[in-house]
Amino acid sequence: MKKILVTGGAGFLGSHLCERLLEQGHDVLCVDNFFTGTKDNIAHLIGNRNFELMRFDITFPLYVEVDEIFNLACPASPIHYQFDPVQTTKTSVHGAINMLGLAKRVKAKILQASTSEVYGDPDVHPQPESYWGRVNPIGLRSCYDEGKRCAETLFFDYWRQHRLRIKVVRIFNTYGPRMHPNDGRVVSNFIVQALKGEDITVYGDGSQTRSFCYVDDLVEAMMRAMNTPDDFTGPINIGNPKEFTILQLAQQVIAQTGSKSKIVFNPLPSDDPKQRKPDITLASDVLKWTPSIELAQGLEKTIGYFRVKSNTL
Ligand code: NAD
Ligand code: UDP
Ligand code: UDP
Repeated sequence: MKKILVTGGAGFLGSHLCERLLEQGHDVLCVDNFFTGTKDNIAHLIGNRNFELMRFDITFPLYVEVDEIFNLACPASPIHYQFDPVQTTKTSVHGAINMLGLAKRVKAKILQASTSEVYGDPDVHPQPESYWGRVNPIGLRSCYDEGKRCAETLFFDYWRQHRLRIKVVRIFNTYGPRMHPNDGRVVSNFIVQALKGEDITVYGDGSQTRSFCYVDDLVEAMMRAMNTPDDFTGPINIGNPKEFTILQLAQQVIAQTGSKSKIVFNPLPSDDPKQRKPDITLASDVLKWTPSIELAQGLEKTIGYFRVKSNTL
């Protein structure tokens, strides 16, 4: 049994990760400031004697004793990370420094939840880890993109300078139950709109692409990445390489919900990447992992979650 810290543990991905780590018999410390995460996400874990919850902001130093750290704390949807962009950068950068300082003091292994946004609006497709990206340093998305890029820099400098055991995973669009219903991300938006019979808001002409990974596949890959040999640092892409246009996604959600909603076209947000799809060759080689849940199957489970949740929306 290991003592494992999950920052951002009350969020969408973090809550699923806490659950899986507990199932494996580990002692889990969930640290979250509840900016976008909720107690609802982890309510079912309270009472488990191996689970501990701490309300805390990782931009402040944290002194605890743990064996491993999964650093997930950071708002992930454009609406939320642009709400207070300075705090977003602080969470990524000061948060990373604090978690790396903690890992250094207690000699813990540490994994960073990085993002496909480090590739920006990419001119290489699909994106391999070797691609340096095309990121606007001064745009609306920069607090998130550049914050995450700086966090990667810090991880690699702590590895080079202090020989820390690090793992950097670059997560591509992931969806599933416990996504925040109002966070503006495309899968949750479309499902909530379809269930309420509201217009489905496609931004631009809907020809931009994304590849959607179901949360269970993603969490499995993250846990495998943490368990790679010490000389493996990443960065490593994790996500589902099956690519869809946003218009296809809208049509699929309408079909699977049986909704009467109409598709409407709204302006495209600034710096919105035109295409995104992970090259997961490295993940399949090193982690012996490829995603197994198809979009239709994952959407079914996510729609089921939002049907229940929509009574309280
Ligand atoms: P989320 O918003 O549901 O979870 C983030 C959690 O971090 C929330 O519970 C929030 O309250 C917490 N948090 C934010 N700032 C904090 C701070 N300063 N101190 C402590 N806690 C703080 O988002 P998510 O989708 O679960 O994303 C988790 C991580 O994965 C993020 O780092 C995100 O950048 C990364 N990621 C997610 C996706 C995706 O598609 N979901 C894609 C790429 C990267
Ligand atoms: N830190 C922390 N928990 C610890 C150890 C360090 O939060 O258990 C923070 C500490 O506040 C510091 C940061 O991590 O600001 C970086 O620590 P490091 O030891 O790398 O650098 P230094 O303390 O020399 O600035
Ligand atoms: N999008 C959309 N309608 C919505 C929400 C998002 O068309 O209601 C588009 C958005 O412009 C982007 C894609 O869906 O092209 C994915 O958006 P999301 O915010 O989920 O993730 P990201 O842009 O970070 O990949």
